[in-house]
Amino acid sequence: MSGIVGRLLGSGSQLARSLLGTAQLPIKESAAGFKVKSRLKLRCRSCYFTRVDGRLHVECNEHPRHKTREIYNVKTLW
Ligand SMILES: [Zn+2]
Repeated sequence: MSGIVGRLLGSGSQLARSLLGTAQLPIKESAAGFKVKSRLKLRCRSCYFTRVDGRLHVECNEHPRHKTREIYNVKTLW
């Protein structure tokens, strides 16, 4: 448990938490800043698809809030 907390604190989650307004504790995942959705779509011209660890991500240069991560689909493994 303490190892996870130490890793989160070491990966700049304090900055992310200050940006979020300290509303949530950064316990969710190490890849903070990504929303997890089952369906991805491009929300502006700067959005683009990228593939990370076999999953589809949406990155955005102009609007970091557009960043989205595909939910881990177990069916694709079979
Ligand atoms: Zn965008």
